[in-house]
Amino acid sequence: MTTQVRTCPKCAQLMWLKEDQYEQLDEETIRGKCPQCGSTVRFTLVSQGDNAAGPKMGH
Ligand SMILES: [Zn+2]
Repeated sequence: MTTQVRTCPKCAQLMWLKEDQYEQLDEETIRGKCPQCGSTVRFTLVSQGDNAAGPKMGH
C-alpha cells in the first residue's frame, strides 16, 4: 500500500494518508481519518477508470 491522497468529503481539504493512517477494509475500500476535521471517511481504491476525474456518488 502507498500514501493515499484524497479530498475529504466533509471539509474539502486534501488528506495525505500514510500507510499507518488508514486501513484497508477490503480489496477496493480504505478507511481513514481526516486530519483536518477528524471525520472517518471511506474511499474506494481506483487505479483506473472514470473515477480518476472525480468521486462517484452512490453505487
Ligand atoms: Zn475533513
